[in-house]
Amino acid sequence: MHIAYLLTGGNLGDREATLAKAKDLIALNCGPILSESPLYETEAWGIEDQELFLNQALKIRTELSAPLLLEEILRIEKQLGRVRQIKYGPRKIDIDILFFDHEVIHEPGLTVPHPHLQTRRFALQCLFDIAPGLVHPLFDKTITRLLAECTDPLKVYKLG
Ligand code: AMP
Repeated sequence: MHIAYLLTGGNLGDREATLAKAKDLIALNCGPILSESPLYETEAWGIEDQELFLNQALKIRTELSAPLLLEEILRIEKQLGRVRQIKYGPRKIDIDILFFDHEVIHEPGLTVPHPHLQTRRFALQCLFDIAPGLVHPLFDKTITRLLAECTDPLKVYKLG
């Protein structure tokens, strides 16, 4: 049994409906959702001239290994209509594995903890709400500390 933290996001179509569907499919195919962050509207990272993203962090329990979890997540993205176009461009759904237990994984196509987590305020803010004391295995710092040290200027707004 493993604990994984995922980040869902998207900025095309009905973002709330897509994130809700992603959550249902993750619960059905990957394992139960133990906690979820509020939804955050976030400025786009990479290519900034595009619609705001909606993001949410999920903590799940899963029987899947990390590579199988990734496989399942990619399948869910496809099922929800993700079309891979330009890197960092607009997309209906994106699901990332932020953490998988306390593991450090460097495999072709899979890096855990997510390599950009510490530089992206939107990911840290979502995670902070459900796991402020979680320790990053490479930096040996909590999410609270990584968020306090994060210099990403892009804005993050709690929805509602
Ligand atoms: P993108 O959806 O554009 O962020 O990139 C997805 C690709 O990143 C997938 O095909 C994965 O093979 C790869 N990848 C590497 N590490 C991760 C991770 N921790 N979570 C999700 N995708 C990952």
